[in-house]
Amino acid sequence: MANAREIEISPIMKIIEAETHPPERVYFFDTTLRDGEQTPGIAFTLEEKLKIAQALDQLGIDVIEAGFPRVSDADFQACKQIPQLGLKSEIIGLARIGKDDINKVIDCDMDSIHVFIATSDLHLRDKLKITREQCLEKIIEGVEYARAHYDIVEFSAEDATRTDLDFLIKVNQTAVKAGASRINIPDTVGTITPRGFAYVIQKNREVLPANVRISTHCHNDFGLAVANSLAGVEMGAGQIHTTILGIGERAGNADCAQCAMGLFAMYGLKTNIKTKLLYPTYKLVESLSGFPISACAPLVGKNAFRHEAGIHAHAIIQNPRSYEPLTPELIGIPRSDKLSDIIDQSIQIGKHSGGHALKAKLESLSIPFTHDQFSEIMNRVKSFGDKGRRIMDEDLMAIVRDVIGSIPEEEKFIFLDELTVLTGSVTPTSTVKMRIKVNGGYDTQIASAVGVGPVDASLKAIMTAFANVKKFDIPRLELMEYQIEAVTGGTDALASVTIKLRDEQKREYEAKAVHEDIVMSSVKAMLNGFNKAMIHKYKKK
Ligand code: MN
Repeated sequence: MANAREIEISPIMKIIEAETHPPERVYFFDTTLRDGEQTPGIAFTLEEKLKIAQALDQLGIDVIEAGFPRVSDADFQACKQIPQLGLKSEIIGLARIGKDDINKVIDCDMDSIHVFIATSDLHLRDKLKITREQCLEKIIEGVEYARAHYDIVEFSAEDATRTDLDFLIKVNQTAVKAGASRINIPDTVGTITPRGFAYVIQKNREVLPANVRISTHCHNDFGLAVANSLAGVEMGAGQIHTTILGIGERAGNADCAQCAMGLFAMYGLKTNIKTKLLYPTYKLVESLSGFPISACAPLVGKNAFRHEAGIHAHAIIQNPRSYEPLTPELIGIPRSDKLSDIIDQSIQIGKHSGGHALKAKLESLSIPFTHDQFSEIMNRVKSFGDKGRRIMDEDLMAIVRDVIGSIPEEEKFIFLDELTVLTGSVTPTSTVKMRIKVNGGYDTQIASAVGVGPVDASLKAIMTAFANVKKFDIPRLELMEYQIEAVTGGTDALASVTIKLRDEQKREYEAKAVHEDIVMSSVKAMLNGFNKAMIHKYKKK
């Protein structure tokens, strides 16, 4: 078992150990290039297949299924060229059990052969239109022919899990007698549970010779491909068929990384997989297949090592194993040991964040803050999340800058009470209601203006309101610059507005504001600028 600090799993696994019979070592048979390529929407070019084969070899895959040479010329080419790369992995080719298919694998000069025939009554009756006896005859003839050319013959009874169990065992025994050294048991349409699959493997293991490797090939129609594969290993399967990204027919095949890390972490089993190469291999296949890794994909998804809930984030800072079963480094996802980086990479600040995560994040960024500023930042982060938005680092920084850079309430002279904007296929019109602190009391001003757009109308309304103040000397300010920028992409991004105002003494005041609404951020930036000018004019006296 791996270092306890790298992996922390359920102690119950120790209790059930006596009930399982896994082999010493589990072999990985990768079918990304065969079953994986049968994924609707995925087609690799020859160059891409060669690249993937090399990556699989480096990853430590024992057997690479390069293709099904009889089905297409593209498959034939890949099956011919991949064996010539001189890889350590065994390169196997798929064939239906007839001579024509087997000859195609022989033509490609592959290392070994994988032959199959369907065995369920459903397939025999409706697809092959043969009897069980005819099926057995084909197996004897086909496996013997393949064995005459190859030392290693892997045999698959297609649709094994829907085949009568006694007949399946008879089929597999027949294949072994005819020369097959590996028996693969496919759950072709993914219709069995882990307990059921373990039973099938166990029954085959009991009767097949010990030197025959039993293999699993599980499909994910019910999301059980990985669970079924692991259950098969528990009962003696020594090889599992997997694909990178779990791609494959329909809902796909058992996922390589999940099987590899499951065997490594949960059972402490020996495999040839270099786990640190899993993530790089996934990224390669992701880019070549154009099949994006889902954010919540186990182990390799963007969220696999992220934490948002406050208590989780707090605990992760104390000990990452508290909410992570294993370290991301184990599968090749880089993460520095530095606390600030851990916080940065793994704690996603969002509406479920508690104070701990946000505090740690701000501290990691060396941002000083007061108690009030912290509460304000927290409120704004939460309200951002409540609007259904995912807060990005850039958003957080914009909010932090806005809060920390803003003028404390007690120092302000101008307060916005109302803003009403009318826009659309009308003349853009804006009405502002402001309060201005005057000699210990407040002077309320309401003004309206029209403009070329809602921002222009609003800024003009503010200017008009100030011009109407009689009891108090307001600095005469001119708008010199106005810039608006979306903090992140998307129509729901925060809008950051920066303005520059100039007074009669040519003194300049720069002010910023951030808000989801561009009119609000513009108005807030304008009032921040006026407040700065007012503070300059009156506070010094
Ligand atoms: Mn399959």
